[in-house]
Amino acid sequence: MDYYSSMHINNIMTAILSRTGEILYLIEGNREAVLVDTGLGVGHLKEYLKGLTHKPLTVLLTHGHEDHALGAPEFDNVYMSPEDRALYQSHCPMEVRRGYLQSQLGQGAEQLTEEDFVPPCPDYAFHALEDGMVFDLGDVHVEAWSLPGHTAGSFVFLIREYRILISGDACNNATFLFGEEALTVEEYQQHLKAFQAKQEDRYHRIFLSHRMIEGGEDCIKEAIELCGDIMEGNTDDVPFRFMDTCACMAKKQNEYFEREDGKFANIIYNRDKVWKR
Ligand SMILES: [Zn+2]
Repeated sequence: MDYYSSMHINNIMTAILSRTGEILYLIEGNREAVLVDTGLGVGHLKEYLKGLTHKPLTVLLTHGHEDHALGAPEFDNVYMSPEDRALYQSHCPMEVRRGYLQSQLGQGAEQLTEEDFVPPCPDYAFHALEDGMVFDLGDVHVEAWSLPGHTAGSFVFLIREYRILISGDACNNATFLFGEEALTVEEYQQHLKAFQAKQEDRYHRIFLSHRMIEGGEDCIKEAIELCGDIMEGNTDDVPFRFMDTCACMAKKQNEYFEREDGKFANIIYNRDKVWKR
């Protein structure tokens, strides 16, 4: 099956869309290229990329979840936060990926054979991604900034010259903050505020990893407000099911993940994990 397709965004960026809905980004300067995220490790991504670029490639992972990081072992030069290493390892078993594929593709998941998967590699030697790292691609710079919450090792990437922020799962219109690996709402708000204080004026577009390529440009500002609403109990708290868990969606949305009040950011959280312990 054709597992990936791509869409040209501008003269340096291509969005790569997987069948299960993850959005990866290829960014090319005049010398080198960066790939943001590697998806589930299904469908021969490295081979697919050969049709898009021949530049030397560095891979940057937004975080260690299976739908972003499990394709990493196909590549030689991959950066991820050491904070997410144990999480990555816990998502390596094949049944984690099989479960995710089943949830997204239903019966279609059964068409995938063993050879469609990147073999699990829990000991993969990642380079350590650190706050403020800059990757110079030649005329284009990609900056890595830590933004914990969704996971402790979540990063966002700023394409400096284009003022584009790839926020991944760290902040979007359905930010998952309910897993065991997520921080509390209070801690997440502190990290969002610290990030925004430094970077607010440096980006004007936000790109996401799921559901849609481009999100609302005020997403981070709205997420800070929404964390405040959650702490004050000023939320709709719609029950939200994902695979085996049930959590609360802070503000009511329609089936397209649009908030009724017109704002973009939304948070799916666990009532037991609002306050910092
Ligand atoms: Zn995630």
